[in-house]
Amino acid sequence: MTGWRDALGSEGSTVDCIACGETLAREDAREYDRYGDRWDRADKRFEYLCKPCYDEQCHLPRDGLEETLVEAGAGDVGRRAFLRSFRRLDAREAGADSEE
Ligand SMILES: [Zn+2]
Repeated sequence: MTGWRDALGSEGSTVDCIACGETLAREDAREYDRYGDRWDRADKRFEYLCKPCYDEQCHLPRDGLEETLVEAGAGDVGRRAFLRSFRRLDAREAGADSEE
């Protein structure tokens, strides 16, 4: 079998983790669909999480994460702006929790 190494090294085979911005091989990423199955799959843009972030998100309330993602403008703003917003919102929620 040939070609799998080329596929791994070619452009487009990497994705960015939406939580930490890490670039990783698509094969190593975990698909994250913030809209669930409501929308036609053909129109969907899947997002990705690296393994550490995926494991971390699994321990968090999913509803809160999705609200944060949407509020941060995932898919609607540039990646840099989104990550900045996401981190700020995430920090805000973490801060709110610790004050209780
Ligand atoms: Zn990550």
